[in-house]
Amino acid sequence: MKAVAHNEGSGDMTIELPSAPMPRGSLIPGSYSEFEIEMEARRLQSAIKQPVRWSLDTCRAIAPLTLEINDLKREKDVFLIAHSYQTPDITYGVADSVADSYALSKDARDAPQQTILFSSVRFMAETAKIVSPHKLVLHPSPQAGCSLSDGITAQDIRDLREMHPGAPVVCYINTSAEVKAECDVCVTSSNYMRICEILPGDSLIFVPDRFMGKHLQNHLAGKKEIIVFDGECEVHAAFTGDKIRNWRKRTTAVGINLKVLSHPECDADVIEESDFVGSSEVLMNEALRLVSEGNKDLMLITECGTADRVIAESDDDLNLIGACVMCPHMKTTQLEDILQALRNPRPEQVIELDADVIERASLCLDEMFRLTEYSASAF
Ligand code: SF4
Repeated sequence: MKAVAHNEGSGDMTIELPSAPMPRGSLIPGSYSEFEIEMEARRLQSAIKQPVRWSLDTCRAIAPLTLEINDLKREKDVFLIAHSYQTPDITYGVADSVADSYALSKDARDAPQQTILFSSVRFMAETAKIVSPHKLVLHPSPQAGCSLSDGITAQDIRDLREMHPGAPVVCYINTSAEVKAECDVCVTSSNYMRICEILPGDSLIFVPDRFMGKHLQNHLAGKKEIIVFDGECEVHAAFTGDKIRNWRKRTTAVGINLKVLSHPECDADVIEESDFVGSSEVLMNEALRLVSEGNKDLMLITECGTADRVIAESDDDLNLIGACVMCPHMKTTQLEDILQALRNPRPEQVIELDADVIERASLCLDEMFRLTEYSASAF
C-alpha cells in the first residue's frame, strides 16, 4: 500500500496525488494520425483537470490506448464500468459509467449491452455477473483482490450461523460471490445503516468490516445486538483520528476552516473527528456542494481516486489538504489491461460463477435493492 502524505512539518498543506501511470509498453496500440492523437490528448487533459500531473505529453502517450479502447467498445458493443478509485485515464478516458458499488451494480444490471467490462477489483466484477448472469462480464485484472473480500470465506458464514442461530447475516458488498450466496442481505456503504435498522429481529451478524460493524453497534445500541466479523479495508484502516486532529490544529492556526469528509470503512475515532461521512460517491457530491458554497479547504479521508474525481468534477478552485491512501488492488488495472481484455480476453479475465452460487447470491442482492427502495419510500 502506498500512502501519499505530506511531511507534517512542511509548510505546504495541499494534497499530493500519486503520479500518472505511464503506458507499460506491453501492447502495440492501433495506429492513429498525429491529429487524432493530439485531439484525444487535449480531450483527456481537459477532462482530468490536473495539467501538471497529467501533462499534455503524458496524455499524448496514453491517447492511442484510449482511442483504441473507445473504438473497440463501439465495435464490440461493450459497456465499460469503472469504480471511482480507478485512475483518471480510465474514469475520464474510457469509462461509460463511474460510481460507487451500489450504483455500479445497478448500471451493470440495466445496461443494454450484452458485454460488461468492469475495471475494478474482482468482487465487483462478480457482482456484475450475479445481477446480469446472461451477460459476458470481463475483468481485466483477475489478480485484483481486496483485503475485505479476501479476508472472509463461505465457511466463515456457515460457522457464524451455527454460533448465532436465527440471526440474519448482512454482508457488505465487498465480499465474494460465494460469501454473498450464504448471506441474507447485501449492503453498501450508502445503505448499510438504514437496512440494518429496518431488518426484523433483535440481533444480526454483520460481515466483514469490523469498523462499519462498530458504527452499527454505536448506532443501534440498546435496539439490536450486532455480531461483527473481524475484517478491515487496509486502505481506510490506515487513517487515524490523531492525524485529523493534527491537521485541524495546523489549519486552524493559519485561519483555515477545514471540512473533513470520511468513508465509513474508517475507524470510530476518525468518524468522530469528521464533519461528514459517506460512500465514495456521496463524499464526492458533498465535497462539490461544499466547494460551490465557498468551502474550498477540504480533507478527504479515503482512497486517492475520490480526490481525482472531485478535482475533475469541480469548476471552482479547491484546496485538498492532508493525505490520501492509494489502494494497490484498485490501481492494478491500467489501460493496457483493458485494451488486451477487449481485444482478446484470456479465460481468467472472463467471470464464470456456478449457477447455484449466482442464484443464491442474487437473492442476497435483490433483497438489498428491495430494502433500499422500501426504506426510501418509507422514510
Ligand atoms: S479500498 Fe479497501 S475495500 Fe476498496 S478494494 Fe481497496 S482494500 Fe478493498
